[in-house]
Amino acid sequence: MLGQYKAFLLDIDGVLVRGGVPIPGAQEALTQLRNTGKVLLLTNNSTKSRVGSAARLRECGIFVEPSEIFPSSYVAAQFLRRFGCVRYWYIGEAGIREEMEAAGHVLVGPEAAEWLVVGMDRGLTYEKLAQALRALLRGARLLATNEDKTFPTPEGLVPGAGAVVGALRGMGFSPQFVVGKPSAIAFEVALTVLGVQAKEVLMIGDRLETDIGGAARLGMDTALVLSGVTGAEELRGAPVRPTYVARDLSALVRGEFLAVD
Ligand SMILES: [Mg+2]
Repeated sequence: MLGQYKAFLLDIDGVLVRGGVPIPGAQEALTQLRNTGKVLLLTNNSTKSRVGSAARLRECGIFVEPSEIFPSSYVAAQFLRRFGCVRYWYIGEAGIREEMEAAGHVLVGPEAAEWLVVGMDRGLTYEKLAQALRALLRGARLLATNEDKTFPTPEGLVPGAGAVVGALRGMGFSPQFVVGKPSAIAFEVALTVLGVQAKEVLMIGDRLETDIGGAARLGMDTALVLSGVTGAEELRGAPVRPTYVARDLSALVRGEFLAVD
């Protein structure tokens, strides 16, 4: 089954790790996928850069190169290059700042920003929202790394980037671009780097609306693993139909699919 694909896009949380620990068999399955085709990890998590994401995975016992990971912080910085080196302000964590800097963009204050880049921010304050409002009222354009409502941690779900975007919407401003899954932008940046067509790719993820729905809209085959946020119950009657369903990544690479009616 896997042999028909030239490349594999994998989500991270719920596919390789869950709550800071590796999902059993994930590292071995990842190695097998690498032996079959190109592998890229596509995650909406914007709190870390590529280097930071690789370090986080290493702590969990999953070994990947920074170049194999596309967090939405990286996708945002690469996407903005089409507007040149932009002057930006941000609400988010180190991942956004590190990737924006690496791409040549220039961090300025909210008074001078052409772009406001927002992602999940565990240090969100009223002052940050007030600064963002100042930038937006001056005409800064708004880019969201993603709009995930929640983010999984060992202690349970915490507010995701959607909470920040929601606060800005509450002030009357909507993002001009959202680059993370299910946006086509994330998938297109990945396809360009991999040098493959959508139909040659299998997207493997645990969220129906972002991983599976977004990839399917671009014509990719999809595999839903039930090791993350989506359970078999939820899948039944869902409008999004993955090409394959498996218990986890390990079962998927062994070709052990689950039938869903
Ligand atoms: Mg996930």
